[in-house]
Amino acid sequence: MIPRLSKSRIQSGRQCHKRLWLELKQPGTARWGGAAQARLDEGTRFGELAQDLLGGGLLIAADHLHVREALAETQAALKRPHTEIPMLFEPAFSYEDVRVRVDGFERGDRSDTLIEVKSTTSVKDEHIWDCAIQTWVARGAGRHVKKIVLAHVDNQFVYTTPGDYVGLLTQVDITSAVEALQSDIPRIVAELKEVAAGPKPAIATGNHCTTPYGCPFIEHCQSGESEPPQFPVSLLPRARALIGRLEGEGYRDLRDVPDASLPNDLFKRIAAATRDDLPFVSADFQATLAAIPYPRYFLDFETVSFVIPRWLGTRPFQALPFQFSCHKESADGAIEHSEFLDVSGGSPLSAFIDHLLDAVKEPGPILVWNRGFEASRLRELAGMFPEKSESLLEVVERMVDLLPLYRSNYYHRDMRGSWSIKAVLPTVAPELAYDDLDICGGTEAQSAYMEAIHPDTPSHRRDELRTQLLAYCERDTYAMMRLMTP
Ligand code: SF4
Repeated sequence: MIPRLSKSRIQSGRQCHKRLWLELKQPGTARWGGAAQARLDEGTRFGELAQDLLGGGLLIAADHLHVREALAETQAALKRPHTEIPMLFEPAFSYEDVRVRVDGFERGDRSDTLIEVKSTTSVKDEHIWDCAIQTWVARGAGRHVKKIVLAHVDNQFVYTTPGDYVGLLTQVDITSAVEALQSDIPRIVAELKEVAAGPKPAIATGNHCTTPYGCPFIEHCQSGESEPPQFPVSLLPRARALIGRLEGEGYRDLRDVPDASLPNDLFKRIAAATRDDLPFVSADFQATLAAIPYPRYFLDFETVSFVIPRWLGTRPFQALPFQFSCHKESADGAIEHSEFLDVSGGSPLSAFIDHLLDAVKEPGPILVWNRGFEASRLRELAGMFPEKSESLLEVVERMVDLLPLYRSNYYHRDMRGSWSIKAVLPTVAPELAYDDLDICGGTEAQSAYMEAIHPDTPSHRRDELRTQLLAYCERDTYAMMRLMTP
């Protein structure tokens, strides 16, 4: 029997026929990361809040494992007058063996409005396709869908009153974009039914594995492929078109690419360091770093963001600092460390600012890795806390960015095209690599923080997470200090 298609399976099939086939035939080979699960959880919470913001309605309660019940519940609800049930949430429709659940379905006298809810801040192509599939199925099932709306997060919304999220959702009429795709849907459905009924498609991994969504079968697919080159051309940074061209010309390993095929000095430098296994260090790099005066501060933040703002004065998806580490190095070699971390779950922002201003109160350059990020956070805080604005902007003025200095003056082939501090540090000071820590990256730090502030987290676990977070952030600033002598 050919498995039935759903909206998400059709989207998987549009991304990659093999992905659809694996979802249907070998779903156990999928691997979802913890961050993907956290995003799904937040998306679910946003969906529930969106139902309130859309004015409430009747929720079709049967879950995705009980499709027949959901279809029956939907039909029963639609038989009642629209004046009695003007809005349905999660109604189920089926047509041509394609089943969909619709986020919101507003019934009118003679026509219906289909509402798709997305926890994003803009309308994306794949959202239009989502709605096009749903519209095709709902119409096929007999509904007169006249208008299609995408309800997404308004990133200008500011949370000012506890519990009041009116304005968090913005609605965009996407009817004409959806109509333009309607004639394509029958062909796509027929094509994907053939994929579902056929043998496993032979498709190699590539850019399509991450666009528009990361594919959970990547490990499975790569395990069946021949050993990738040690330094694939794909490690060239921000060079998607060039990589495609080089791969099209048959180059797989960067070491085989002639300099003449590389358009700029940076790529030539990366290729040479990779080919010769000789790190590039510019002649005056050490002198440039040595010229930075003392006392030097080394500063790093950790941030978290929420789709649904939790703290007053904040916006959806705003990167909010909850932790910093700061090392101060004096000319005589003395080192002081200060840090801040609040895992109470309440807003850490005001205390974060106070502790930070105290940590860097003596004059001196503040070295950061990727100034744009830290500076943006401080400017945002300056806007939120006008009484501390001047001091925060002074901190921004004192910031010196180590990242562009390293990008212009240093490359080791083990960095594999990245100048993130995690990539650079093991090549300069392998003894400081992050592999002895429980938390080794920003995404893990966010997950740890989210777990720490969760009300169900026991206090001993919260203490453990706090210790891990402090160790991780401290390593970042200690590492920066060490990177002053490459
Ligand atoms: S990893 Fe890539 S090739 Fe494999 S199923 Fe996913 S998208 Fe297709």
